[in-house]
Amino acid sequence: MAANLVESAPPGGAHETDVIIIGAGPCGLFAVFELGLLNIKAHVIDILDKPGGQCTELYPEKPILDIPAIKTITGEQLTKQLIDQIKPFGATFHLNEMATGLGKSPDGKWKIETDLGTTITAPVICIAAGGGSFQPKKPPIPGVEDFEGQSVFYAVRQRDAFKGKNIIIAGGGDSALDWTLNLEPIAEKITLIHRRPDFRAAPDSVDKMKALVDAGRIDFHVSQIKGLNGDGGQIESVSVESKEDGEHDLPCNTLLAFYGLTMKLGPIADFGLNFAENRVEVDTEKFETSVPGIFCIGDMAYYPGKLKLILSGFHESALMSHGAFHYVFPDKKLKFQHTTSAKDLQAQIGGKS
Ligand SMILES: Cc1cc2nc3c(=O)[nH]c(=O)nc-3n(C[C@H](O)[C@H](O)[C@H](O)COP(=O)(O)OP(=O)(O)OC[C@H]3O[C@@H](n4cnc5c(N)ncnc54)[C@H](O)[C@@H]3O)c2cc1C
Repeated sequence: MAANLVESAPPGGAHETDVIIIGAGPCGLFAVFELGLLNIKAHVIDILDKPGGQCTELYPEKPILDIPAIKTITGEQLTKQLIDQIKPFGATFHLNEMATGLGKSPDGKWKIETDLGTTITAPVICIAAGGGSFQPKKPPIPGVEDFEGQSVFYAVRQRDAFKGKNIIIAGGGDSALDWTLNLEPIAEKITLIHRRPDFRAAPDSVDKMKALVDAGRIDFHVSQIKGLNGDGGQIESVSVESKEDGEHDLPCNTLLAFYGLTMKLGPIADFGLNFAENRVEVDTEKFETSVPGIFCIGDMAYYPGKLKLILSGFHESALMSHGAFHYVFPDKKLKFQHTTSAKDLQAQIGGKS
């Protein structure tokens, strides 16, 4: 799984870097490489718990046929190879965090804040936010908002927060199954609920989950959640309905509901940028937005003729990096060189044959 490909910095710190990349999709990842070629350091923020954006979230196993010189590659493999390619440049990742606020630091640099209280300052921001941030779909349970963030959650941001809990996990996709397997060793009890006996999750995870059920280490019910019971934000049980048992209550103190994700433009809408067709307007020379020092690449970028393709985002990363160079090193002249003849780069990247 792409989840373990990069380490994420602990949330809440204050960081300084050259470029803040919002979005760890393929274009945000390749931007790390193109910036790295110019000796520009980057921090990358993504609300998801893994890099890869749409490639890993929406089509990890589908073959992509239009990455130049690669006949066929899955979304998951492309992400792995991008992560491998950018490793020498040592970008810092902030996963599971949403870039929420844009401001300026006293020295005039840009400052991004996340919903977990991390701050990063840099002279340049590169928005690579694709179709927007992936956000969980809320389950259609009456009154669920009274419990959200206290005992009902749609993502696991810190695994240890679920230690010793009596957890009901609802859903049949990869997130539901992955967290069932991951939390089982530390939870007091795990009950998995899905409305059907078959799952969308990877078959290997389903097999592992079934083995835990057979071993009596977790419970599994084919049922649908009808309501939540509890007080003051603390859930005490979940009312479920199943064909066999009708409506009944399952005691728990935590509900993790994984009902899929939607993509929303989110806080970037309030960054004061010019928008066209719900995307950020950029020039096609540097892929800079209407605000100096803020660039945008990939699916989120709008310009006449834009194609929402990974290869377009790769091209945009290269030109964005050259534009960013002048903000990061205002007194230096950019010396363009091919990677084939850049000896210092070859030593760093290990490309010597
Ligand atoms: C089913 C399907 C098949 C496709 N097949 C192909 C194909 O064959 N070839 C091809 O070239 N393209 C294909 N595409 C399109 C391709 O996936 C996109 O062009 C590509 O993913 C865009 O990359 P990106 O990095 O711009 O954005 P994304 O991949 O969308 O990644 C953006 C990331 O930014 C994060 N983000 C957004 N806002 C915030 C925020 N405020 N804070 C934190 N994180 C944020 C999101 O969570 C997301 O992870 C396909 C798309 C789909 C859906």
